[in-house]
This record gives sequence, C-alpha cells and structure tokens, in this order.
Amino acid sequence: MIRGLVQGVGFRPFIYRLATARGLHGEVVNRSDGVAVILDCGESLAEQFARDIPVMAPQAAMIRSIEVTKREVGRYECFSILSSRDIDDNITEVSPDIAVCDECLHDIDSDINRIDYPFVNCTSCGPRFSIISSLPYDRVSTSMAPFAMCDNCTAEYNDISDRRFHAQPVACNKCGPVYSMNIDGREIRGIRSILEQMAERLSAGLSVAIKSTGGYNLMCDAFSEEAVSGLRHRKQRDRKPFAVMFRDLSAVRDYCAVSKEEEAALLSWRRPVVILESIRPLAPSVSSGLRTVGAMLPHMPVHHMLFRMIGMPAVVLTSGNLSHEPVITDDTVAAEDLMKVTGCVVSYNRAINNRIDDSVVRIIDGGMAIIRRARGFAPQPVGLARDAEGILAAGAEMKNSLCIGKGSQALPSQYIGDMYNPATYEFYLETFRLYSSLFRFTPSSVACDMHPDYLSSRFADELSRERGLPLTRIQHHHAHAASVIAEHNLSDPVIGVVMDGTGYGLDGNIWGSEFLVTTPGGFERYSHFDYIKMPGGDAAVREPWRMALSCVHKYLGAGYDFRSLRPFRSIDERKISVVSGIIEQGINSPLTCGAGRLFDAVSALLMLCPEQVYDSEAPMLLESAINKNSEEYYPFTAGETVDVGEMFREMVRELDSSDSSSVAVKFHNTIARIIMEVCKLIRRDTGIRTAVLSGGVFQNRFLLGKTAALLRGNGFKIYTNHQVPANDGGISLGQLYLVAERRSLCV
Ligand code: ZN
Ligand code: ZN
Ligand code: FE
Repeated sequence: MIRGLVQGVGFRPFIYRLATARGLHGEVVNRSDGVAVILDCGESLAEQFARDIPVMAPQAAMIRSIEVTKREVGRYECFSILSSRDIDDNITEVSPDIAVCDECLHDIDSDINRIDYPFVNCTSCGPRFSIISSLPYDRVSTSMAPFAMCDNCTAEYNDISDRRFHAQPVACNKCGPVYSMNIDGREIRGIRSILEQMAERLSAGLSVAIKSTGGYNLMCDAFSEEAVSGLRHRKQRDRKPFAVMFRDLSAVRDYCAVSKEEEAALLSWRRPVVILESIRPLAPSVSSGLRTVGAMLPHMPVHHMLFRMIGMPAVVLTSGNLSHEPVITDDTVAAEDLMKVTGCVVSYNRAINNRIDDSVVRIIDGGMAIIRRARGFAPQPVGLARDAEGILAAGAEMKNSLCIGKGSQALPSQYIGDMYNPATYEFYLETFRLYSSLFRFTPSSVACDMHPDYLSSRFADELSRERGLPLTRIQHHHAHAASVIAEHNLSDPVIGVVMDGTGYGLDGNIWGSEFLVTTPGGFERYSHFDYIKMPGGDAAVREPWRMALSCVHKYLGAGYDFRSLRPFRSIDERKISVVSGIIEQGINSPLTCGAGRLFDAVSALLMLCPEQVYDSEAPMLLESAINKNSEEYYPFTAGETVDVGEMFREMVRELDSSDSSSVAVKFHNTIARIIMEVCKLIRRDTGIRTAVLSGGVFQNRFLLGKTAALLRGNGFKIYTNHQVPANDGGISLGQLYLVAERRSLCV
C-alpha cells in the first residue's frame, strides 16, 4: 500500500513498468486511500520492489508511506492495472495542477494529432485539482467527462508503453476542448487565428482576458506604459503590482536578478510567480515604485504558443477579477465583466471545477517563502506529528485559507482572499463544501480566530452551534507561531516571534509584535513593542501618515511642532488638526503594537507612502527603498515591552540629513536587533534556544534575512514557514494544529 500524492501523476503506469521489467505478476489499483500493489512473489523481491519505488517514482509524486504486508494471494498470469475502486474515507491526496512538460510541448510541433493543440497533456503534466470534482481521480470525475476520447486517444490511454497511458485529461485536435475568442461580440475560432489576433492586440497596446488553469487572467504588453496603466485603470487596481509572464528563463534574466534557488522555483512544475529583484525596467506601472518584479514562466501550452507569435519577451499576466473579488472562473461572468475591461475574451469549452489563483513565492534566507499558496501547491497536505482528524480551522479575515484535518494530515485550502467581500465569502463557503465532499470530511471540532467580527469566526461559531461541535477560539499570533511549529513538527517549547499587522489581543488591544513562549496547549506573552494609538482606527491603516503623527505625539511630545516636519506639510491642514486632536484626546484611537504599523509610520515619515491603496504597500515601499546594506542601527530599550522612542527621535533628527535608503536600512537593522535582544532575554529566563518566526512582516526579505543571521550567529536554532504563508494565509494551519495539540493533552 502506497500513500501520499500518488494519483494523477502517472503512478500506476510507473508501477506497471517497474513490475513488468522484473517479470513480476500481480495488479495495481487506485483506491481512495492510496495505491495498492499486489505482487505474486516472495518476500525479498517485494521488499526490494518497495525500496525502489521512491527512488524511481515520477517527479510530481510525493510518497508519504509504503507499507508491505505478507499474505496469501491467488496466482497471477501477468501484471495488470485494475480500474479504480472506492474503498473508505481515508482519502489520499489529489495532485495539484502541473505545468506542461517538454515532451508535450514537442508534440505541438510533431504529433500528427496534436499539431498546435493547446490542451496537450500526459501523465506527467496537465490540469488536475482545477478539473476534479470527486475522488478517485478518473476522467468521469473531472470536467473532461463531456469529451469522449477519439480512437487514437483511447489507444494511447490504454497502451501501457505510452506516455498518455491512463492520463485522465488526454485529448487531441479531434476530440478535446478548444479555445474560442470574442472581440466585442465577434467570434473567432481556430487556435492560429486566435493567437494572431491576440498578438495583434497586444502589440497595439490593447489587453486580452484569457482563461487559464484555475481562472481567467488579464494580459497586456509589459513594456507599454500606456497599455499597463490603461489596464490598471479599467481593472480598478490602483497600484498593486502586476505579475509578469516572461517568454523563457533568459528573458527573465534580461530584466531580473535570478539566483540558483529562484531559478529552481521559476522552472518547477508548480510554476509560481517568483518575486525577483528588478535590474532593467519594464513599464513603470507594472510594479508601481517597487524594485521587485513578480515573474513567472509559461505553464500552459497556449502561453508557449503565444510567445512564438509575439515579439515582446514579456506580458503582464494578472488575475482576471475586479478589485478584491475572487478570480473569475465562469465563462458567462467573464464574457460580461472582463469584456468590459478588455473588449476581448479568450475562453475554452472545459469547465474550471475548482478556482485556483496563481501562486506567489519569494526566496528568503535561502528558502522558499510562499506568499500566496494556490496553483501547484493546493491541495497538498502538511504532514503533522499528531492526529488532527475531524478538525476544521476557519482561518483569519484577510488572505484567508481554511484547513481541514484528515488523520495526521492537515489540508490547507488554496488562497481564498479577503473575506469582507461578499463574493469572496461565497468562495469560502464553496471551498468548505468542496473539501468536505472531495476528502469526505465531517468536522467534529472547529477552530477560529478570537476576533468575534471576522467572518470566518462567525462562520465557525454558527457551524459549531448548528452541529453541536466544540469551538476553540485561538489567539491570532499564537496561531501564526503554531503554523511554523506544525510545519516542522516541533515538540518542545519555543520562542514564538510574530511580527504582524493586526490581530485580536487578550487585553483588548491590537497585537502584532509578539514574543511568545509556547507551553503545552498555550502560550505566555513575554514581550511586545510599545502600544501606540491608531488615530481613526482602520483609517490609520489606509493613511500611514496618521501612524507617523501618532509616533511623533508619543515620542516627541504633544507640544512638538510636527508641522515643521516635511512629511506632514503635504497633508491637508484641517485633516491633520483633526487627527492631532483625536490623538491628544484618545478618541477613536485603539492601541496597537502591530509591527506593521511601525513600518507604516516610518514609510510615511520618509514620504514613501503617506496613503496606501493596497495591503502592505507602505512596508513594501520601505523595504524597496533600501539600495545599500549597512550594519548601523538605532538605539532602543528591550524588556517586558520594547521602547522604540529613542529610535524614533533619532530618525526624526536624521530626516533632513539622511537619504531614505540609509534610514530604511537602519530601521530594518534595528527591528532585527530588537528581536535578537528580546530572544536573548527569553533564553536567559527560560533556557529556550529555538525560535519560530512568523507573521506577514517576515515576508520582508531584508528583515527576515538580517534577523535570521543575527539569531543564528547568537546560537539560536530558527524555523520559518515554507509550506504555508507567514501571512494570514497560514493562520488556519496554526489553528488546526493547536486544537490537535490540546486534544492530545486531554487524552
Ligand atoms: Zn506532458
Ligand atoms: Zn483524441
Ligand atoms: Fe496576522
């Protein structure tokens, strides 16, 4: 019995070939709990066979366990592959979608049935999760079901020596799905004509909506400022960076610095967007002031075919949605909404069963940090060291994902989005239903955030009351820390360093710069940054200058002539007086220690971002302002709270004499130093020398790199997130893990 990611990755044919090559008789069958192999042979041959499997398995397969049992079997005349059988609720894994392989790309030019066929795929590539509707993974349970295979495809599907043997989405020009294009009501068919029209539109500075693996994308010339800003305007996406698809690796290298790890991420079969350092400009509005580019390589045959047709080495390729809504998957909605944005929609006649965005990763501190976990990653499980069966974790509010427990595996959903949007909330409910039916999951225990107003918390609350299930409310930053603990199966108490934007605190304030010491089933809050007022509440998140003003009030005194400071001169006089007033009187000014707010304040102080239009814009611009390294840092006092008053005062003194890069680098260094000093204090008091780092602020490459180096240099063992995001997308895994841990303590 083989468990793990072994369905839909060409595993049964691989087993068949392995067995027949050795002259072994028996059978292999996909069951919903894994792949079962029966061999009619002696023990030592069977064991050798089991040992060879992991070494020789297909690249997208991920084997979790192989169990060899000895029993009486009948006599077998040959080795055969049986049709799938539905066995029990111990569901195995579903393969993520896999980028088109080189052999299939070759077929586009050479296979008589697949010349220019844009849905070419085989057992080692093609759509998987996005087309599946139930398990086991067979063609009838996917959106390929309506397409009857032609004789040739059937022959390949049944030929054990063929690359397409049992490839569920197998298709060709005769029998498979096709693209169609609609330009302002005019219908165009035939892939050649469609690609020609696309090329023409792109070079004319126009945009195109195109159906991708897990949703629609919007595309335009990445070098034409007019095209990019036009798309931005029509998409109502003011400054948030657009992803860019490059023709090939050498095109990426022309515009971005690419390390060995980044190259591997770009080329992997998951094909995520990789955030790279820009070295040569694209159209300025692509990344709106950031020194980074979200780069990806073609992952569908149609992308490769398009780049052969067009002259430009890169196109903008961003999610086809209206601001804050989930990416569009429905053809009718696309024809309506995206037509308004682009005037041209390229679609195909196979349904997307499961919505899934492009994933976004960044190489930080030599490892892969996942910023958005979607295509290529979901629905891959995270293996836990404890039983999590029946636990549903509802996640957070922003960048939500939910997570379910099956046995000792946690299955975090794909990226869902920001819950306050009604369409996103609908997607959330859909995802819960999908994971419940696909993985035969019935919740027996529910976890959510402590914040009572998060929609995910309300959902969890209602569900637990409806079904009479226990509900556990988990502190936000405890969940962040636990997400790392879960990923790395850490069993001893650790120092949890969580640098974050916001999160509901136990004292009624907004937390987000937490130094926690985890205990079995709980945590102690050891230290945190000083609380600062957030004048106007959420308005202070949208307008970082308010946080800068709040810091000036706190650290330079209420009487300080803030109007003499450059960053406040550009702010409307009346508005600034009102905000100054509410700070003094403490009206509508909740207290926060969120590290993100401090980054906001500094970003505003340096006039990089007085107002932010997308989440984390101010901190991202602050990181991007760094153009040289140094080891300098500001003074601070670390204890039960961290006082950054001295830092802030010195920073204000330097405003006129230093450039923003120097201040930004010194500020980042200071935060890293603070973390190291507090960790040392905790180690002195507790003896703990292992730290886990999580929270959205650690997506800052400079900060995490510096912090990790300082901590390691001072004898700490550190762990970070690699399987789920450090941002709120990873919260659900942490919630699930903590419920599993508490449950194990009760037994
Ligand atoms: Zn292939
Ligand atoms: Zn065919
Ligand atoms: Fe958070």
